[in-house]
Amino acid sequence: MAEQGNLTFGIIKPDAVRAGNTGRIIQHITDAGFRTRAMKLIHMTLEEAEGFYAVHRERPFFPELTRFMSSAPCVVMALEKDNAVKAWRDLMGATDPAKADDGTLRKEFGASMGENAVHGSDSEENAAIEISYFFSRLELV
Ligand code: GDP
Repeated sequence: MAEQGNLTFGIIKPDAVRAGNTGRIIQHITDAGFRTRAMKLIHMTLEEAEGFYAVHRERPFFPELTRFMSSAPCVVMALEKDNAVKAWRDLMGATDPAKADDGTLRKEFGASMGENAVHGSDSEENAAIEISYFFSRLELV
């Protein structure tokens, strides 16, 4: 098992999977030097999406976000790299694709604040929580 600080959790969101961008996004992840420790295609129920985004429960966009995340399949991933949380957020870009830098995934594949192609943990603590929400220890290779 790698040091926890080298792991983060990512999602290729339903908009990007539906648009056929899964392969291109995985290529970017590989090119950026991440090692994939776990990956699977899932289709969350509304309840599973609500559990995952529980920290956002009070936010006005929570119903829209959880409906969207449970609307179609997505790809969940445990990614390894030095300073993985920051490295993955740098590759994702700003939450709003319109404000994301050139070369980021959200700039290339995101459409709006809601449909912004990818998710990434915002801290090592949340990365550990989010990885364990979707993967058992046996699924981390
Ligand atoms: P992130 O860490 O960059 O993903 O951003 P946040 O933690 O602030 O928000 C989590 C997710 O909620 C974002 O990735 C968006 O998909 C969604 N979100 C944030 N703000 C809005 C908003 O104003 N409208 C909608 N529809 N979704 C939002």
